[in-house]
Amino acid sequence: MHLKGRTAIVTGASRGIGRAIALKLAQDGANIAFNYLRNDQYAGSLEKEIKALGVPVMAFKADVRDLDQARKVRETVVSELGSLDILINNAGILKDSALVMMTPEDWHAVIDTNLNGTFNMTRAVIMTFMKQKRGDIINIASVSGLYGMARQVNYSSSKGGMIAFAKSLAKEVAGHNIRVNAVAPGFVETDMISHLKEDQLKTALDKIPLGRLGKPEDVANVVSFLLSPDAAYITGQIIQVDGGMGM
Ligand code: NAP
Repeated sequence: MHLKGRTAIVTGASRGIGRAIALKLAQDGANIAFNYLRNDQYAGSLEKEIKALGVPVMAFKADVRDLDQARKVRETVVSELGSLDILINNAGILKDSALVMMTPEDWHAVIDTNLNGTFNMTRAVIMTFMKQKRGDIINIASVSGLYGMARQVNYSSSKGGMIAFAKSLAKEVAGHNIRVNAVAPGFVETDMISHLKEDQLKTALDKIPLGRLGKPEDVANVVSFLLSPDAAYITGQIIQVDGGMGM
């Protein structure tokens, strides 16, 4: 229960990794606010699960691409839950194709959600964190942003941007007792990779020394650690959760 009394915003938590992070932080005792884009049913069931854990929870159908909506989420969280201590920038999308085929729409959609969404949510909360001289920000990036991945120029660029964003901001706000880190998952079993065909999954598995895909909980556990007192001296770091894929 190392997060008891703290409040976390987790973006894109109706499904996948965000959902696992929201549940884990709730189990750690945090009050949870989360947003999502369109999946009301999944969001409703997460809300119920978190309530059953006995911690306050708020769900927002709010688009990370919109700074005004991000500000509204922050305002409501602070006024309803009474505090704001943690931001997990997790909402993300993929629109893979070879660059030679990539449309400007697919380039902008991915940058808008993954990178501009990170800017919007962080911009919305940073003053609160600075004034209270306390805060934790974790960007859910990707190994694709560290090493690059064919057919993912848009996605890799957005994730590389989230990594550079975390490092720059970590330097900028360390003096305000705010830590900023990133987690870079490899292949994690969620809807995001459900389009991969069997042979593509096999090729992916061949590159993973631990011999399995990641589970959303593998990522959530590392996020929980980074928010714990044991990680108090860690900032500006990119932690790979990839079964050794990046070695
Ligand atoms: P996912 O299962 O596809 O879930 C994406 C989540 O983001 C959903 O909750 C979705 O809401 C939300 N979302 C999408 N666009 C949004 C927007 N504009 N505003 C607010 N919420 C939005 O994805 P995932 O696999 O859990 O991935 C989570 C993060 O981990 C992403 O940033 C992804 O890039 C990163 N990651 C994933 C993997 C992987 O292998 N899965 C690997 C490395 C990094 P709705 O349900 O309403 O659509």
